[in-house]
Amino acid sequence: MTETLHRLVYYSRNCLTAAPDAMQREVAQILATSQVNNARVGVTGALMFNRGCFAQVLEGPQAAIEATFERIQQDPRHGEVTLLSFGPAEARGFPVWSMAYIGGSDTDAARYQAIAGESGFDVTRLTGDRVFEMLHAMVLDEEQAAA
Ligand code: FAD
Repeated sequence: MTETLHRLVYYSRNCLTAAPDAMQREVAQILATSQVNNARVGVTGALMFNRGCFAQVLEGPQAAIEATFERIQQDPRHGEVTLLSFGPAEARGFPVWSMAYIGGSDTDAARYQAIAGESGFDVTRLTGDRVFEMLHAMVLDEEQAAA
């Protein structure tokens, strides 16, 4: 297994059809599983969602990222999984997060809307770097607000 740090960014369609409260619970379940699995294999990152879409950053050893993304792609809770970028990274953007979660607050929703709006919901117009930068800024904001 190569230990070179890699970063993967993707964007997908949310296929969860539940009402908002139930959807939050479904996402909480995805997050709980992710945090346990990712911590085990040295993967960190961030997950953002709204009613329409997910965006996620995964970082860690290349083989661990590939195995994790393979499972994620098969998951029926989302679809049209679109890889935006995958390659070596100099440092982790989310070093203390087995999976940071963005999407619970109104501010998050507005910011996410900005990403989705920028692309006109056309995933081919979003870059991995752009999604990474936005998730990174949002997580930093939340860390500062919580400090
Ligand atoms: P379990 O959680 O025990 O699940 C067993 C099987 O049942 C899996 O095939 C799973 O896909 C399926 N399953 C479980 N609950 C449901 C449900 N409510 N509806 C339909 N099928 C279900 N996993 C990670 O490890 N790391 C991540 O960072 C990560 N990010 C994700 C992001 C998104 C947007 C989504 C939708 C899923 C993500 N997952 C992530 C979950 C991943 O797709 C797998 O479900 C999970 O890794 C399987 O973990 P497990 O082997 O512990 O199985």
